[in-house]
Amino acid sequence: MMSTPRHFGPYTVTSLLDGLFEAPVDVLLHADGDEARRRLIEKRAGRGIRIDVNCFVLSGPAGITLIDSGAADAYGPALGKVRAALPAAGIQPEQIDRVLLTHIHGDHALGLLDGTAAWAPRAELLIPEADLAFFTDPAARAAQPEAKRGPFDIAAKLVGAYAGRLRALPNGEVPGLPGIEALPLPGHTPGHTGYLVRNGKDSLLIWGDALHLQDEQPAEPEIELVFDIDPALALRTRRALLEQLATEGWVAAGSHITGFGRVQRAGSAYGFVPVE
Ligand SMILES: [Zn+2]
Repeated sequence: MMSTPRHFGPYTVTSLLDGLFEAPVDVLLHADGDEARRRLIEKRAGRGIRIDVNCFVLSGPAGITLIDSGAADAYGPALGKVRAALPAAGIQPEQIDRVLLTHIHGDHALGLLDGTAAWAPRAELLIPEADLAFFTDPAARAAQPEAKRGPFDIAAKLVGAYAGRLRALPNGEVPGLPGIEALPLPGHTPGHTGYLVRNGKDSLLIWGDALHLQDEQPAEPEIELVFDIDPALALRTRRALLEQLATEGWVAAGSHITGFGRVQRAGSAYGFVPVE
C-alpha cells in the first residue's frame, strides 16, 4: 500500500507499507525501571504492540531513492508487501538508483536481499558509516547477546551482495542527493540515522526507529522497546529529537508510525499531530 505522494522541495515522497509487526507486551520497557514498566503494562491491559513497517520512495532530480526496504519474506506473511507494492506503483527494482538505510535491522534491510544476492540490481547502497562499522566488527558481535546478532549476518550478506556499489555514509549531506541530509539519531543502533528532506519550514524528517509508538512515546519518551542496542543513548536521542521537531516545526514520518505528522509541545512533554 502506498501513501499519497507528498512534495518536499524537488522531491516527491511516498510511504510504502511493508506490513504490520506484532509483538507481545514483553517487548516494552521503561527507562524509570520495573515499577514504571509494570504501570505501563497495566495501563495497556497486557496489550502488545502492533505497528507499521514502512519504507519510503523519494523521486526527484536524482532519480529514484528508496529509504529502507522492508523485510521481504524473513518475518512471515504479515510483512514483505513492498515487493509487490513497488512494481504495482510502476517502480521495478532495476529502476532504483540508490537505497539509503536508516540502520541495519531485518525489517529495514532484508528486503534488499534475495537469498545472498542483491534484490536491486543497479542500486547504490548507502549505509550509515557507524552501523556498517559496528555490524561488520567481530568483536562487537561477540559482545552482543545471541538475540541481537542477526544484524551482523545481514551486514555480511549486504557487503557480499552489493560489493562495488555499497558505500559507508557519513552524517551530513548525502552525496548525489541535493537537499537531503543524514542526521545521526544513535542509540537504537550505533549508526541509526534519520533523513532530512530540506524544504524550509516544511522540511520532512524520516526518523527511522527513533520512536516506535506515536501515541505514547512523545508523551512519555521513557517508554522503550527491547530492540535498542543502547537504551540510555536512544532515550537521550528521542528527547532531543522531539524538542528539535517541536522547535523547527518539520513534518515527521517514521519506519513504524502511521502517516505524517508534526511534534507539538504538550505540558512538559510532546504530542504527535497528524498532518492532512
Ligand atoms: Zn525497525
